[in-house]
Amino acid sequence: MADNDDVPFNRDFPLKPGVVEEVRPGVRRILCNNPSPFTFTGTVSYILGEGKVAIIDPGPDDEAHAAALLKAVRGETVTHILVTHTHRDHSPNTARLKAATGATVYAEGPHRASRPRYESEKISSESGADREFKPDIRVSDGETIEGAGWAVQAVATPGHTANHLAFAWRERGICFVGDHVMGWSTSIVAPPDGSMVDYMASLQRLTQRDEDLYFSGHGPEIPEGPRYVRFLIRHRQAREASILHRLAKGKADIPTLVRAIYIGIDPRLIGAAGYSVLAHLEDLVARGIVATDGDPVIGGTYRMAG
Ligand SMILES: [Zn+2]
Repeated sequence: MADNDDVPFNRDFPLKPGVVEEVRPGVRRILCNNPSPFTFTGTVSYILGEGKVAIIDPGPDDEAHAAALLKAVRGETVTHILVTHTHRDHSPNTARLKAATGATVYAEGPHRASRPRYESEKISSESGADREFKPDIRVSDGETIEGAGWAVQAVATPGHTANHLAFAWRERGICFVGDHVMGWSTSIVAPPDGSMVDYMASLQRLTQRDEDLYFSGHGPEIPEGPRYVRFLIRHRQAREASILHRLAKGKADIPTLVRAIYIGIDPRLIGAAGYSVLAHLEDLVARGIVATDGDPVIGGTYRMAG
Protein backbone atom coordinates (compact mmCIF):
# COMPACT_ATOMS: atom_id res chain seq x y z
CA MET A 1 0.00 0.00 0.00
CA ALA A 2 1.34 3.35 -0.96
CA ASP A 3 0.65 5.10 2.31
CA ASN A 4 3.95 6.62 3.27
CA ASP A 5 6.81 8.48 1.68
CA ASP A 6 9.72 7.01 3.63
CA VAL A 7 10.38 4.34 0.99
CA PRO A 8 11.82 5.40 -2.40
CA PHE A 9 8.90 4.04 -4.44
CA ASN A 10 9.06 4.11 -8.23
CA ARG A 11 5.73 4.23 -10.04
CA ASP A 12 7.24 4.90 -13.45
CA PHE A 13 6.22 1.81 -15.39
CA PRO A 14 5.07 2.62 -18.92
CA LEU A 15 4.84 -1.01 -20.13
CA LYS A 16 1.52 -1.61 -21.94
CA PRO A 17 -0.50 -4.84 -21.56
CA GLY A 18 0.38 -7.60 -24.01
CA VAL A 19 3.63 -5.99 -25.21
CA VAL A 20 6.74 -8.16 -24.91
CA GLU A 21 9.73 -6.29 -23.54
CA GLU A 22 13.22 -7.78 -23.38
CA VAL A 23 14.35 -5.96 -20.29
CA ARG A 24 17.69 -7.79 -19.98
CA PRO A 25 19.25 -10.45 -22.22
CA GLY A 26 17.29 -13.62 -21.47
CA VAL A 27 14.60 -11.80 -19.47
CA ARG A 28 11.36 -10.79 -21.17
CA ARG A 29 8.31 -9.40 -19.41
CA ILE A 30 4.65 -9.05 -20.35
CA LEU A 31 2.02 -7.10 -18.43
CA CYS A 32 -1.46 -8.54 -17.92
CA ASN A 33 -4.37 -6.13 -18.27
CA ASN A 34 -5.59 -6.45 -14.66
CA PRO A 35 -4.92 -3.05 -13.09
CA SER A 36 -6.34 -2.34 -9.60
CA PRO A 37 -5.37 -0.59 -6.34
CA PHE A 38 -3.78 -3.91 -5.32
CA THR A 39 -2.06 -4.91 -8.58
CA PHE A 40 -0.90 -1.45 -9.77
CA THR A 41 -0.89 -1.59 -13.61
CA GLY A 42 -1.40 -5.38 -13.51
CA THR A 43 0.53 -8.60 -13.03
CA VAL A 44 3.91 -8.92 -14.73
CA SER A 45 4.80 -12.34 -16.16
CA TYR A 46 8.40 -13.15 -17.08
CA ILE A 47 9.98 -15.33 -19.75
CA LEU A 48 13.40 -16.71 -18.88
CA GLY A 49 15.92 -17.82 -21.48
CA GLU A 50 15.70 -18.27 -25.22
CA GLY A 51 14.60 -21.24 -27.29
CA LYS A 52 13.77 -23.43 -24.31
CA VAL A 53 12.24 -21.10 -21.80
CA ALA A 54 10.57 -20.80 -18.41
CA ILE A 55 7.57 -18.64 -17.65
CA ILE A 56 7.36 -17.10 -14.19
CA ASP A 57 3.83 -16.35 -12.88
CA PRO A 58 1.39 -16.90 -15.77
CA GLY A 59 -1.01 -14.48 -14.10
CA PRO A 60 -4.75 -14.43 -13.41
CA ASP A 61 -7.35 -16.51 -15.23
CA ASP A 62 -7.09 -14.37 -18.36
CA GLU A 63 -7.31 -15.74 -21.88
CA ALA A 64 -5.87 -12.66 -23.58
CA HIS A 65 -2.82 -12.71 -21.33
CA ALA A 66 -2.26 -16.43 -21.97
CA ALA A 67 -2.51 -15.76 -25.70
CA ALA A 68 0.02 -12.91 -25.42
CA LEU A 69 2.45 -15.15 -23.53
CA LEU A 70 2.05 -17.96 -26.06
CA LYS A 71 2.55 -15.53 -28.92
CA ALA A 72 5.72 -14.22 -27.27
CA VAL A 73 7.20 -17.73 -27.20
CA ARG A 74 6.03 -18.82 -30.65
CA GLY A 75 8.69 -21.11 -32.17
CA GLU A 76 10.18 -21.75 -28.73
CA THR A 77 9.54 -24.51 -26.19
CA VAL A 78 8.22 -23.72 -22.72
CA THR A 79 9.90 -26.32 -20.50
CA HIS A 80 9.12 -24.84 -17.08
CA ILE A 81 6.42 -22.77 -15.40
CA LEU A 82 7.52 -21.27 -12.09
CA VAL A 83 4.97 -19.83 -9.67
CA THR A 84 5.98 -17.46 -6.85
CA HIS A 85 2.75 -17.80 -4.87
CA THR A 86 -0.89 -18.80 -5.04
CA HIS A 87 -2.79 -15.55 -5.30
CA ARG A 88 -5.41 -15.20 -7.99
CA ASP A 89 -3.45 -12.58 -9.88
CA HIS A 90 -0.43 -14.91 -10.24
CA SER A 91 -1.23 -18.61 -10.54
CA PRO A 92 -4.63 -19.39 -12.17
CA ASN A 93 -3.41 -18.98 -15.77
CA THR A 94 -0.93 -21.78 -15.11
CA ALA A 95 -3.53 -24.39 -16.10
CA ARG A 96 -4.06 -22.74 -19.49
CA LEU A 97 -0.34 -22.45 -20.23
CA LYS A 98 0.40 -25.97 -19.09
CA ALA A 99 -2.36 -27.30 -21.34
CA ALA A 100 -0.95 -25.36 -24.29
CA THR A 101 2.74 -26.14 -23.75
CA GLY A 102 3.03 -29.31 -21.66
CA ALA A 103 5.52 -27.52 -19.39
CA THR A 104 6.23 -28.77 -15.88
CA VAL A 105 4.92 -26.56 -13.07
CA TYR A 106 7.21 -25.72 -10.14
CA ALA A 107 6.10 -24.05 -6.90
CA GLU A 108 6.41 -24.42 -3.15
CA GLY A 109 3.01 -26.09 -2.87
CA PRO A 110 -0.75 -25.50 -2.86
CA HIS A 111 -2.19 -22.50 -1.05
CA ARG A 112 -2.14 -22.61 2.74
CA ALA A 113 -2.50 -20.10 5.55
CA SER A 114 0.40 -18.98 7.73
CA ARG A 115 -1.44 -20.16 10.83
CA PRO A 116 -4.69 -22.00 11.61
CA ARG A 117 -7.82 -19.86 11.55
CA TYR A 118 -9.26 -18.81 14.87
CA GLU A 119 -12.86 -19.77 15.60
CA SER A 120 -14.08 -16.23 14.88
CA GLU A 121 -12.33 -16.27 11.50
CA LYS A 122 -13.96 -19.44 10.22
CA ILE A 123 -16.45 -17.54 8.14
CA SER A 124 -14.19 -14.95 6.60
CA SER A 125 -14.66 -13.22 3.31
CA GLU A 126 -12.02 -14.61 1.00
CA SER A 127 -8.59 -13.19 0.47
CA GLY A 128 -7.72 -13.81 -3.14
CA ALA A 129 -6.21 -17.24 -2.76
CA ASP A 130 -6.08 -19.64 -5.70
CA ARG A 131 -7.13 -22.89 -4.03
CA GLU A 132 -7.22 -24.85 -7.31
CA PHE A 133 -3.50 -24.59 -7.92
CA LYS A 134 -1.24 -27.64 -7.61
CA PRO A 135 2.37 -27.75 -8.80
CA ASP A 136 3.79 -30.80 -10.61
CA ILE A 137 6.98 -30.44 -8.62
CA ARG A 138 7.15 -29.02 -5.12
CA VAL A 139 10.24 -26.90 -4.62
CA SER A 140 12.01 -26.35 -1.30
CA ASP A 141 14.19 -23.50 -0.18
CA GLY A 142 17.67 -23.62 -1.73
CA GLU A 143 16.80 -25.99 -4.57
CA THR A 144 18.02 -25.11 -8.02
CA ILE A 145 15.76 -25.35 -11.05
CA GLU A 146 17.70 -25.58 -14.28
CA GLY A 147 16.76 -25.09 -17.88
CA ALA A 148 18.61 -24.47 -21.13
CA GLY A 149 20.89 -21.52 -20.48
CA TRP A 150 19.39 -20.51 -17.15
CA ALA A 151 19.29 -21.75 -13.56
CA VAL A 152 17.43 -20.25 -10.64
CA GLN A 153 17.58 -21.01 -6.95
CA ALA A 154 14.33 -21.11 -4.97
CA VAL A 155 14.42 -18.73 -2.01
CA ALA A 156 11.66 -19.33 0.55
CA THR A 157 10.18 -15.91 1.27
CA PRO A 158 7.02 -16.51 3.34
CA GLY A 159 5.08 -13.53 4.68
CA HIS A 160 2.86 -12.23 1.86
CA THR A 161 1.72 -15.85 1.62
CA ALA A 162 3.05 -18.90 3.46
CA ASN A 163 4.15 -20.54 0.21
CA HIS A 164 5.88 -17.56 -1.39
CA LEU A 165 9.12 -18.25 -3.28
CA ALA A 166 11.56 -15.91 -4.93
CA PHE A 167 13.70 -17.25 -7.77
CA ALA A 168 17.32 -16.14 -7.82
CA TRP A 169 19.27 -16.30 -11.06
CA ARG A 170 22.51 -16.22 -9.14
CA GLU A 171 25.06 -16.02 -11.93
CA ARG A 172 23.24 -13.02 -13.36
CA GLY A 173 22.68 -11.23 -10.04
CA ILE A 174 18.93 -11.17 -10.66
CA CYS A 175 16.12 -12.16 -8.33
CA PHE A 176 12.45 -12.61 -9.28
CA VAL A 177 10.82 -11.54 -6.06
CA GLY A 178 7.11 -11.97 -6.81
CA ASP A 179 4.96 -9.92 -4.43
CA HIS A 180 7.43 -10.15 -1.55
CA VAL A 181 9.09 -6.92 -2.73
CA MET A 182 7.49 -4.38 -5.06
CA GLY A 183 8.96 -1.12 -6.27
CA TRP A 184 5.67 0.80 -6.56
CA SER A 185 4.29 0.03 -3.08
CA THR A 186 4.68 -2.00 0.07
CA SER A 187 3.27 -5.56 0.04
CA ILE A 188 0.08 -6.63 1.74
CA VAL A 189 0.62 -8.89 4.73
CA ALA A 190 -2.83 -10.06 5.81
CA PRO A 191 -3.30 -12.76 8.46
CA PRO A 192 -4.07 -15.61 8.46
CA ASP A 193 -2.76 -15.94 4.88
CA GLY A 194 0.18 -13.71 5.63
CA SER A 195 2.45 -13.35 8.62
CA MET A 196 4.42 -10.26 9.68
CA VAL A 197 7.05 -12.29 11.56
CA ASP A 198 7.69 -14.39 8.46
CA TYR A 199 7.61 -11.38 6.17
CA MET A 200 10.22 -9.46 8.19
CA ALA A 201 12.47 -12.54 8.36
CA SER A 202 12.11 -12.98 4.59
CA LEU A 203 13.08 -9.35 4.01
CA GLN A 204 16.16 -9.88 6.16
CA ARG A 205 17.06 -12.95 4.12
CA LEU A 206 17.15 -10.94 0.90
CA THR A 207 19.48 -8.33 2.39
CA GLN A 208 21.97 -11.12 3.02
CA ARG A 209 21.98 -12.29 -0.60
CA ASP A 210 24.09 -11.07 -3.48
CA GLU A 211 21.39 -10.50 -6.12
CA ASP A 212 21.04 -6.80 -6.74
CA LEU A 213 18.44 -6.46 -9.49
CA TYR A 214 14.88 -7.45 -8.59
CA PHE A 215 11.98 -8.20 -10.91
CA SER A 216 8.66 -8.01 -9.17
CA GLY A 217 5.12 -9.31 -9.69
CA HIS A 218 3.88 -5.75 -10.19
CA GLY A 219 5.59 -2.58 -11.36
CA PRO A 220 9.11 -1.78 -12.49
CA GLU A 221 12.36 -3.57 -11.77
CA ILE A 222 14.21 -2.59 -8.59
CA PRO A 223 17.91 -1.80 -8.92
CA GLU A 224 19.91 -2.09 -5.69
CA GLY A 225 17.35 -4.55 -4.33
CA PRO A 226 18.92 -5.20 -0.90
CA ARG A 227 19.21 -1.45 -0.27
CA TYR A 228 15.53 -1.01 -1.15
CA VAL A 229 14.61 -3.90 1.15
CA ARG A 230 16.34 -2.14 4.04
CA PHE A 231 13.97 0.80 3.44
CA LEU A 232 11.02 -1.62 3.63
CA ILE A 233 12.31 -3.05 6.91
CA ARG A 234 12.62 0.43 8.41
CA HIS A 235 9.14 1.30 7.10
CA ARG A 236 7.61 -1.65 8.96
CA GLN A 237 9.54 -0.83 12.11
CA ALA A 238 8.17 2.72 11.89
CA ARG A 239 4.65 1.34 11.40
CA GLU A 240 5.04 -0.79 14.52
CA ALA A 241 6.26 2.25 16.44
CA SER A 242 3.17 4.22 15.30
CA ILE A 243 0.87 1.47 16.52
CA LEU A 244 2.59 1.43 19.92
CA HIS A 245 2.54 5.23 20.07
CA ARG A 246 -1.24 5.22 19.55
CA LEU A 247 -1.85 2.38 22.03
CA ALA A 248 0.22 4.20 24.65
CA LYS A 249 -2.61 6.78 24.65
CA GLY A 250 -5.24 4.13 25.33
CA LYS A 251 -6.85 0.98 23.97
CA ALA A 252 -8.03 1.00 20.38
CA ASP A 253 -9.68 -1.20 17.78
CA ILE A 254 -8.20 -1.70 14.33
CA PRO A 255 -10.31 0.92 12.47
CA THR A 256 -9.17 3.49 15.05
CA LEU A 257 -5.53 2.51 14.54
CA VAL A 258 -5.89 2.69 10.74
CA ARG A 259 -7.34 6.21 10.98
CA ALA A 260 -4.50 7.26 13.28
CA ILE A 261 -1.71 5.79 11.16
CA TYR A 262 -2.72 5.83 7.50
CA ILE A 263 -3.30 9.48 6.85
CA GLY A 264 -4.78 10.17 3.42
CA ILE A 265 -5.06 6.50 2.42
CA ASP A 266 -7.00 5.52 -0.72
CA PRO A 267 -10.41 4.49 0.74
CA ARG A 268 -10.32 1.30 -1.36
CA LEU A 269 -7.26 0.18 0.64
CA ILE A 270 -8.66 0.72 4.14
CA GLY A 271 -9.68 -2.93 4.49
CA ALA A 272 -6.22 -4.15 3.51
CA ALA A 273 -4.62 -1.57 5.81
CA GLY A 274 -6.64 -3.06 8.67
CA TYR A 275 -5.16 -6.47 7.95
CA SER A 276 -1.64 -5.03 7.82
CA VAL A 277 -2.24 -3.49 11.24
CA LEU A 278 -3.57 -6.85 12.43
CA ALA A 279 -0.36 -8.50 11.15
CA HIS A 280 1.68 -6.15 13.33
CA LEU A 281 -0.65 -6.62 16.33
CA GLU A 282 -0.48 -10.40 16.04
CA ASP A 283 3.31 -10.14 16.26
CA LEU A 284 3.17 -7.63 19.15
CA VAL A 285 0.75 -9.85 21.10
CA ALA A 286 2.99 -12.89 20.55
CA ARG A 287 5.92 -10.86 21.91
CA GLY A 288 3.88 -9.88 24.99
CA ILE A 289 4.04 -6.15 24.21
CA VAL A 290 0.37 -5.71 23.34
CA ALA A 291 -2.67 -7.43 24.89
CA THR A 292 -6.16 -8.23 23.64
CA ASP A 293 -9.08 -10.27 24.93
CA GLY A 294 -9.03 -13.66 23.27
CA ASP A 295 -7.32 -14.26 19.95
CA PRO A 296 -5.75 -11.36 18.05
CA VAL A 297 -8.40 -10.91 15.35
CA ILE A 298 -9.57 -8.18 13.00
CA GLY A 299 -12.52 -7.23 15.25
CA GLY A 300 -10.48 -7.12 18.47
CA THR A 301 -9.58 -4.26 20.80
CA TYR A 302 -5.93 -3.82 21.69
CA ARG A 303 -4.01 -2.25 24.57
CA MET A 304 -0.48 -2.10 25.89
CA ALA A 305 0.31 -5.20 27.97
CA GLY A 306 1.14 -5.00 31.64
ZN1 LIG B 1 0.20 -10.03 -7.04
